[in-house]
Amino acid sequence: MTEKTPKRENYFDYTREIDDLTGIEVLDTFEKFSQRDDVFCRALWDEEVSGEKVMAFYKGYYMPRAKARKSDGFSQRDYALRNAAWHVCNVLREQKDGRREGFHDHFTSHDDGWHEPYPFESAEQATVDIRKVAAFSGADLVGICAYDERWMYDGIYDTKGKSKPLDIPDDLPNVIVTGESMDKDLTATVPSALAGSATGMGYTNDCVTLLTMAQYIRNLGYRAYATMNDSALAVPLAVQAGLGEGGRHSLLITPEFGARLRLGKIFTDMPLVHDKPMSFGVKEFCDICNRCAKGCPPKAISFDAPSDHMYNRSNLKGVVKWSTDAEKCFKFWINQNTDCSICIRVCPYNRDYSKWYNRAWQKLAGGSFRKIALWLDDKLAHRARMKSADWWQKKNID
Ligand code: SF4
Ligand code: SF4
Repeated sequence: MTEKTPKRENYFDYTREIDDLTGIEVLDTFEKFSQRDDVFCRALWDEEVSGEKVMAFYKGYYMPRAKARKSDGFSQRDYALRNAAWHVCNVLREQKDGRREGFHDHFTSHDDGWHEPYPFESAEQATVDIRKVAAFSGADLVGICAYDERWMYDGIYDTKGKSKPLDIPDDLPNVIVTGESMDKDLTATVPSALAGSATGMGYTNDCVTLLTMAQYIRNLGYRAYATMNDSALAVPLAVQAGLGEGGRHSLLITPEFGARLRLGKIFTDMPLVHDKPMSFGVKEFCDICNRCAKGCPPKAISFDAPSDHMYNRSNLKGVVKWSTDAEKCFKFWINQNTDCSICIRVCPYNRDYSKWYNRAWQKLAGGSFRKIALWLDDKLAHRARMKSADWWQKKNID
């Protein structure tokens, strides 16, 4: 069984043990992150980030306002697929009373569950079941960790720069973290509107998986709150749940998909066994690699060692890690009129791990021959942008 959840005010002490396992260094200056400072929320209230172009960018995710152009990857058919990939996610997020579920607020599209908890023989049995249900519901990855108050948002973005209290109970001891992979070939076409289809479909799949799993848990008689980008920081929870490690581009890198995935979280009191954080040499590899920093057009990724440096208010305070300049990154998205994931495309961990030679490469990258792995990636991997027109013509996507 899991440990008892500490009270909120004690969150700083009880997590030291997990920090030893993850290598996440939390300083005494640490402050919880307020969602209103997330750059996507600032775009709705902060003059430093917002503006007419930003509003046009958001509206462009609905077809009549998409600003298609002639360049490769930005035509009407490219936007048609990108916006269709986002469609189900958009339908689920637009709720009554100003709620934007999955982005600002947790999901509420649930039926009533069972009136009392299902009597599992053990937490181990419940964990076996939830892994099976996760795979059935479409999750490519699943991990479980303890509730950690530090990564919960210190207020949820409401409207016009205002926050409202987080409305997820603080006595749910477990967090299930899920990962949905993004299409590798589509990601190869970034920067393009077409590549945004991989992001949109990742989110849409995430919605389906999270709502199905949370409803299953509720049907068993336990509490479950499904969240996507809302409510809590996903990357530290995913690291604690053993899904992967944080990279220089500040994204989660997993052994199965590199950074090519979207994350979801379910907060629950279903009895579950926690996974252990894992290391497969990402930190050491990022120390000698800077492909993402070099490849980022607006230079939003640091070439330096991990630190608690804050570029602006969109960074987390008091945690030593690789951080990015979200203002520069977001401005680039606005200028090209779609999201970007060049840092995912150029990352050496972005590989098809169903191939034996890519699994062998990862082993090499995780050991003392990592410089050879980096050299091999330079020589053999095809990391140049794929033309979107080629993606449309490619017959057998492998
Ligand atoms: S998404 Fe694009 S702009 Fe943002 S950090 Fe990555 S490469 Fe840079
Ligand atoms: S591109 Fe290199 S430095 Fe950047 S996250 Fe990937 S492995 Fe790390």
